[in-house]
Amino acid sequence: MLDVKQRLQTAIKHLSKEMKVLEIEKDVVSKTQAKFDKHMRENILRERLKTIKKELGDIEDEDELADEYVAKLKKLKKKGLDPEITKKIDKEIKRLGMMSSNNPESGYVRSWLDIVFDLPWMKASKGNANLQKAEEILNKNHYGLEEVKDRVLEYIAVLQLRKNQKIKDKQTKLPTILCFVGPPGVGKTSIGRSIAESLGRKFVKVSLGGIRDEAEIRGHRRTYVGAMPGRIISGMKQASSINPVFMLDEIDKVGSTYRGDPSSALLEALDPEQNKSFEDHYLDMPFDLSEVIFITTANTLDTIPSALRDRLEIIRYAGYTEEEKFHIAKDHLLEKVVAVNGLKKSQATLPNKSLNTVIQRYTREAGVRSLERTLSKLMRKIARTIADQTADQKKVSVTHTLLKKYLGPEMFDVALKEKDDQVGLATGLAYTSVGGEVLFIEVALTQGKGQVKLTGKLGDVMKESAQAALTYVKSNAKALKIDPEQVQKTDVHIHVPEGAVPKDGPSAGITITTAIVSAFTNRPVEREIAMTGEVTLRGRVLRIGGLKEKSIAAHRAGCKTIIIPKDNERDLIKIPDSVKKDITFKPVETVDQVLALALKNKPRKK
Ligand code: ADP
Repeated sequence: MLDVKQRLQTAIKHLSKEMKVLEIEKDVVSKTQAKFDKHMRENILRERLKTIKKELGDIEDEDELADEYVAKLKKLKKKGLDPEITKKIDKEIKRLGMMSSNNPESGYVRSWLDIVFDLPWMKASKGNANLQKAEEILNKNHYGLEEVKDRVLEYIAVLQLRKNQKIKDKQTKLPTILCFVGPPGVGKTSIGRSIAESLGRKFVKVSLGGIRDEAEIRGHRRTYVGAMPGRIISGMKQASSINPVFMLDEIDKVGSTYRGDPSSALLEALDPEQNKSFEDHYLDMPFDLSEVIFITTANTLDTIPSALRDRLEIIRYAGYTEEEKFHIAKDHLLEKVVAVNGLKKSQATLPNKSLNTVIQRYTREAGVRSLERTLSKLMRKIARTIADQTADQKKVSVTHTLLKKYLGPEMFDVALKEKDDQVGLATGLAYTSVGGEVLFIEVALTQGKGQVKLTGKLGDVMKESAQAALTYVKSNAKALKIDPEQVQKTDVHIHVPEGAVPKDGPSAGITITTAIVSAFTNRPVEREIAMTGEVTLRGRVLRIGGLKEKSIAAHRAGCKTIIIPKDNERDLIKIPDSVKKDITFKPVETVDQVLALALKNKPRKK
């Protein structure tokens, strides 16, 4: 380039480009340096922090930790841990060793290893099944419950015999899983505890109520943030032995959603054919549950998935009569609540009469849980009196007046609620998740078009049986001395008060029919008669379930007579004598018989 001017301009162009490049380079270098400095600084600080913490004894050295894991693994291996599992754990320990302590994943690996080493891989409680001892323990801890105890003792007898024969074959695994079914507070959990005690095994209880997600049973995969093992494995960790008595509470309240079916995971855990290698997602290796004795509990059988129910050996708890409650309170509960409230036996006395009042007037339940609570409340009040220095009282006997002062006005009446015989109101008996119950069915007639309306918390089956009852009344109007035309012009409203507990089942059929006929004919219903029975469209009375529970409830409510289906006569043998003493059972085959027994002959004047 010979032209000077042009040459200078080109040179300037190149130079300024070079300058720009240099400038950018300088900038990058300084920024990198700054970042590098920061990193260095952090690392140095972190190292210092670690040293300080170590000096204070707050953390263990990584290497020490890994060494500890290795030692633990060695111990397990010596005891005969499965080689596959050993390999897997070993791999994780090595992985941990290679991670920097700042790596967040090392925390996850560590908590996995902690859980793995907390699990009882081989540790078993060395108890023996001993029939005699078991019987002693069951009788010592529980009053009554003869049927349940018998069944439990049979189970223990089988365990004892099998142990003697040393059955090892998987095919002959004990196929039964006990399922205790009954209302709350009847002693399901405490019987489970006694079984564990008499077998010399640990007892764990895991509640399954409200579980919707399979992962709750089987755990989340470790890739999830905050993943944890499922409840079965957590329970085993808690039991810290491989052969505990494992109670799965409330299996009737396990639901299922799109997130998998928890009951199928449960089945896998319970099934003796499969549970030798139960897979928990978090653990990600098989765990042996075959030595565990599973006991399940439920309030009702209706909501247990059928696949699960098939495997269960059902043992029913019917609920207690007043007499049984009295003995339970005397022999077991009082002692417990006295001690819990810091009292001595000599300081608090509850005369039999007061105890009976508490049972009859302050509680109404199938079990004894609220009885225990009420007694505890009494003891609290006594404790306060005795602790009060100014009063200077050494002991308290709970008289009738004192009872009222402590517990307030009575909550329940002994006899049936309705004092008079009423038109359109019949007493039925139901069997709900809280045990047997007396229910009142009200029928009111209004002008309308022969339609039916149902209120109260009723299930579908009960609604259908109300429809059937009404149809029976309509089609037999003449024989029942009801004007068919009146039926056409009337709406029937059927109401079941006290709708807190959902009620379902066909056994209210004859009760509803009686109430409807009573309303149409104006004939009052005998108030002390309770009834239970399914009704067909042709007026036959069919067999029902839960007669024992229902009659105990009727007894509690002060019924004198119960109308039952003729087919249920064979169940009367199971009814406690104290109930049979006070109640007459009237077996019937047809609705006509029911009406003849339950309705007064003379219509009441309008
Ligand atoms: P569930 O598990 O059926 O709801 P629990 O086993 O928790 O009932 O029992 C509630 C309380 O009642 C416990 O304190 C238990 O000891 C006591 N209990 C229940 N039934 C009996 C009985 N037959 N004899 C002695 N105590 C009983």
